[in-house]
Amino acid sequence: MDLSSRSKILSWLREEDSAKLELFYDAANRFRKKQVGDEVHLRGLIEFSNHCVCSCTYCGLRVENRDLERYRMTPEEILSSARNAKSAGYGTVVLQSGDDPRTTTDWMSNVIRNIRTETGLAVTLSVGERTREDLAAWREAGAERYLLRFETSNKALFNRIHPRRPGQGRDRFEVLRDLRNLGYEVGSGVMIGIPGQTYEDLAQDIDLFRELDLDMIGVGPWISHPRAPLANMPCASKQDQVSNNEEMVYKVLALTRLVCPLTNIPATTGLATINRDSGRELGLDRGANVLMPNCTPLRFRRLYEIYPAKVCMDETEDACQSAMRDRVEAMGRTIGVGPGPSRNREARIRN
Ligand code: SAH
Repeated sequence: MDLSSRSKILSWLREEDSAKLELFYDAANRFRKKQVGDEVHLRGLIEFSNHCVCSCTYCGLRVENRDLERYRMTPEEILSSARNAKSAGYGTVVLQSGDDPRTTTDWMSNVIRNIRTETGLAVTLSVGERTREDLAAWREAGAERYLLRFETSNKALFNRIHPRRPGQGRDRFEVLRDLRNLGYEVGSGVMIGIPGQTYEDLAQDIDLFRELDLDMIGVGPWISHPRAPLANMPCASKQDQVSNNEEMVYKVLALTRLVCPLTNIPATTGLATINRDSGRELGLDRGANVLMPNCTPLRFRRLYEIYPAKVCMDETEDACQSAMRDRVEAMGRTIGVGPGPSRNREARIRN
């Protein structure tokens, strides 16, 4: 499939013929099988703090949301969740939080070291725009992967949804470069259907995935949060505004797989939230090869409300995890064993 130019990406984003889309998804699925095989890697997600100093207009954790009860798990609680992830058979934990300055360099290093020593799990961080010194210290402490979505490559739109804090915060592309130089596996991604996001913008995002040679790419629908003002912001014109519907997410997943053959791509919680019954399966069928079961203790999980009605809020951890395994196996796919590193990175090192 020729996706060498942005205009070809664009025309698939605009495609509405369902028969053509079925063939397109099929091609992406076969390509996924050929490039990364049938394994589905499971990453245990630990949402360890919902404190945040940012004002992102899309996110329920934004500092202005005073209705949200805030929490920060203790290092012992985080370690205990990591132990659960290990017993569930996962090879990796993803430590995610708001941009929380109280998780200092040393605090985080200590958490990472404990998890590495006690469980041997691979550690992925998703903790926002931190300084190069923090990133270096945490790499040193044993974190190997980092996720930071650039959300949209349209600078004006990004600035609108992510107001800059005076003298703080960092350009996300600069952070991604630091991460690469420090030897992390680098993950990024975007939200789909942000008010004001055009098809051109999204095609540029996907082109950029290719250019940045990312190890992990997470994409999901923008979901409106009642305590976040983005829903009231202006949309692009009717013919240009990208929808945040399910179909659009599948188009982006398939395109992402086709332009980034070896990348690890999750079927995200956001996708599962807009289609509880089969979002994850359909995502895995259309390019994805990773799932991120939630390992946050239930009492905290309901407070990590980046958007409302997230899936797996009321299930017990065990039920959530075994359901995922069963579903993967029912699809004829296998569960990945071990940390499931980036094949992209392996190829980069070989060349
Ligand atoms: N503070 C970290 C982690 C944030 S949550 C950071 O900013 O990187 C991780 C991702 O959730 C964000 O990158 C964003 O893409 C997504 N997200 C947040 N609010 C959302 C919403 N309302 N709808 C869809 N995705 C959202």
